[in-house]
Amino acid sequence: MTRYSAWSVFKNGLSGHKNWGRAWRDPEPKTEYDVVIVGAGLHGLATAYYLAKNHGVKNIAVVEKGWLGGGNAGRNTTIVRSNYMMPGNRDFYEHSLELWENLSHDLNYNVMFSQRSHISLLHTPAARDGAARRYNTMRLTGTDAEIWDLDTLKREVPHLNYNSARFPIMGAAVQRRAGSARHDAVAWGYARGADQHGVDIIQNCEVTGVTREGGKVTSLETSRGTIKAGKVGFAVAGNSSRLWSMAGLGKLPIETHKLQAFVSEPLKPLLDQVVVFGVGGAHFYISQSDKGGMVFGGDLDWYKSYAQRGNLPIVQDVAECATSIMPCLGRVRLLRHWSGVMDMSMDGAPFICKTPVDNLYLNAGWNYGGFKASPASGWHFADLIANDRAGRKIEHFNLQRFERGVNIDERGAGPDPKLHG
Ligand SMILES: Cc1cc2nc3c(=O)[nH]c(=O)nc-3n(C[C@H](O)[C@H](O)[C@H](O)COP(=O)(O)OP(=O)(O)OC[C@H]3O[C@@H](n4cnc5c(N)ncnc54)[C@H](O)[C@@H]3O)c2cc1C
Repeated sequence: MTRYSAWSVFKNGLSGHKNWGRAWRDPEPKTEYDVVIVGAGLHGLATAYYLAKNHGVKNIAVVEKGWLGGGNAGRNTTIVRSNYMMPGNRDFYEHSLELWENLSHDLNYNVMFSQRSHISLLHTPAARDGAARRYNTMRLTGTDAEIWDLDTLKREVPHLNYNSARFPIMGAAVQRRAGSARHDAVAWGYARGADQHGVDIIQNCEVTGVTREGGKVTSLETSRGTIKAGKVGFAVAGNSSRLWSMAGLGKLPIETHKLQAFVSEPLKPLLDQVVVFGVGGAHFYISQSDKGGMVFGGDLDWYKSYAQRGNLPIVQDVAECATSIMPCLGRVRLLRHWSGVMDMSMDGAPFICKTPVDNLYLNAGWNYGGFKASPASGWHFADLIANDRAGRKIEHFNLQRFERGVNIDERGAGPDPKLHG
């Protein structure tokens, strides 16, 4: 496998770039693996990578019903941040941001992580007080955080609607180390890294059944035959409840909803940061991709579905938010929009946990915030699978928290579960 470097680009340039090796193999499934991860999204691929790299597990497969990175991994708006306040969330997301900061080097793959700042606009004194509490907690616990007044915001982001916005802008809560990354590159980087460690990534291999004997999962039925497994990890995002019921486990505290994303025609540099607007029922976030397209999104589609396409009222809603906060976008043409299926948990926090079945592990409940979490999610899910116990940073992310009433209600930084019940 070629190690990517300036030298390898130069050398391959001499032969017209015809001799690059494959980034990962396309293996036939074996009959048996020590660990099978279901789902080649970011969380599944990252888990396989860290299982092999950090824990030395040798015989791993990732099975994927479509192509790797074709789910939410390749459909999201790529915002990476760690502006969380609640115990349970804050350590975990900060660990993830730290992993992002070295990810391109670790994977020897440019994931185009750009720490361009995440700016949440503030529109009321109450919002400013709430943000001050959250951002001060972040500073006290070792994360970077700033509150900007209006003059600073105008200097840094000049194109916002400062004159006639329905909800006047008063300032912003900012995390400078936050930003965005190239989603496909992250999936490809983890896939290549996992493959280099011997992981079989098996695409077009849908899990259609889960066989259990003596309190354990013994094998998976797939569209490419039966695969025996020592341990199984589910990392299928919006399809989690389907896999859960295949394993005969009843209902998960997860609903599947759709979230759309939008990209405009390419523009010259217009917006350097990620900007978030949320007040009075509006929810909108926007950044500019390296190719120049304005990438933006808003709220869920507000009905449950497994379909990866969205409805038109949300298009209108998002367009209204865009033009109200950045009126200059009114003349920009929309190039594409699409949707992904979100695994919405009832408190907005994820599950990285053991299940009632001994050798079955669950990674789910990422809502619309799982892109930023993928490095830490893979890291800690791998640790859980390898050692059969939850490490400190994920001990809160279990299924029992609703029974015990210790849910992680991160109002203001995560998805708002009360709105999608
Ligand atoms: C429009 C949109 C915008 C978003 N914006 C952001 C953002 O800005 N920042 C952020 O942090 N997060 C964001 N997210 C959320 C983030 O993308 C997801 O939380 C995260 O990608 C989910 O994890 P994943 O990558 O493993 O999921 P996926 O990529 O969906 O991976 C799951 C995989 O499982 C496979 N699968 C399902 N069923 C089976 C089966 N039976 N057999 C085999 N394989 C199966 C699927 O094909 C899929 O490839 C956004 C999501 C969407 C849709």
